Amino acid sequence: MLIQEHVPLAPRTTIQVGGPARYFVEARTADDALAAVEFARSKSLALFVLGGGSNLVVSDKGWPGLVLKLAISGIEQRAEKGRAIFDVGAGEEWDKFVAFAVGKNCAGVECLSGIPGSVGGTPVQNVGAYGQEVAETIESVQALEVETLEVREIAKTNCGFSYRSSIFNTTERGRYIILKTTYSLTPSGTPKIEYADLKKYFAGWRETPTLADTREAVRQIRASKGMLITPGDPDCKSAGSFFKNPILSPEQHDELLRRAALKGLQVPSYPALESQKKVSAAWLVEHSGFSKGFIAGKAGISRKHALAIVNRGQATALDILSLKEQIQGRVKEIWGVQLAPEPVMVGF
Ligand SMILES: Cc1cc2nc3c(=O)[nH]c(=O)nc-3n(C[C@H](O)[C@H](O)[C@H](O)COP(=O)(O)OP(=O)(O)OC[C@H]3O[C@@H](n4cnc5c(N)ncnc54)[C@H](O)[C@@H]3O)c2cc1C
Repeated sequence: MLIQEHVPLAPRTTIQVGGPARYFVEARTADDALAAVEFARSKSLALFVLGGGSNLVVSDKGWPGLVLKLAISGIEQRAEKGRAIFDVGAGEEWDKFVAFAVGKNCAGVECLSGIPGSVGGTPVQNVGAYGQEVAETIESVQALEVETLEVREIAKTNCGFSYRSSIFNTTERGRYIILKTTYSLTPSGTPKIEYADLKKYFAGWRETPTLADTREAVRQIRASKGMLITPGDPDCKSAGSFFKNPILSPEQHDELLRRAALKGLQVPSYPALESQKKVSAAWLVEHSGFSKGFIAGKAGISRKHALAIVNRGQATALDILSLKEQIQGRVKEIWGVQLAPEPVMVGF
């Protein structure tokens, strides 16, 4: 295991901002991860676990401790009680696994095609898109507990999954290093085509779309929104959606509708848990003066997606955060809603 010093982190993230890691190491095995934790402990270093860097903004100062990059590979398939079970190393690229599963005609992750990042990153914020989320297919997560150095098998029921959330980014943040994730997929399954964009894409098709057709459709839709990492496309130098869709109480929702009605507008909103409502963050951003293509110096908003803050070239983390705060301030002022950022802030 090679421990490197002063390693730039910006090129290891999709938004490409931020300073270096004081120490940096790649773990190819569970033993490497354990040795890395012991190294951090011996030097009293703060530990940060890095996957594909697609949901991060690293501060301009960088990370003063050890960055542990998960590089555990491997996709193993087995059959169990009529299900196709996949044990996948945390360091595998997520979309490579999706392609593999679709290639094996297994359903359950096809709508999550094209999401950047690692397999180990998917349980953290319960990634979701186009009508699916990994909470529907994750069976369990194998993780190294940093405190005890024991490897634990965490069943999906103990992962605390909800919208963009799990124990790994809330109550147990920093407690575990995810080594492997197990997914349970449907062999010879049919694709889930419930999301409006997908239905529209397939409208007029004579044959029933296959899993592979669905994967291709999702990738094309994502590319049209700058949500597929495409070399040379400046609109995907981002951390994806920068804000979560806010979940409002009935009172907060009524207040938002009241403000919208005064302007003769209707807010797109969907039922969430219990009596709550999920509101479109993109709508709030666009109706607060930040349209697609908005420019704020070296930062800006993607020309294809109102929720993606982009690095327009040579931006600093400060440039990105200044725009984020400007947007949050305006949305709060106009709509009374506090937008929460989706990416993880590292070293601030
Ligand atoms: C263009 C673009 C489009 C995107 N579209 C979507 C989308 O449609 N839906 C969606 O949900 N997300 C989307 N994202 C966000 C992002 O791709 C996902 O959140 C992804 O799962 C993050 O994985 P990662 O490996 O890159 O994690 P990183 O960005 O490296 O890390 C994110 C967090 O997870 C933790 N983490 C990562 N790996 C591990 C591990 N092995 N053990 C413990 N903790 C770990 C990190 O410590 C950090 O807190 C998009 C991002 C981009 C840039």
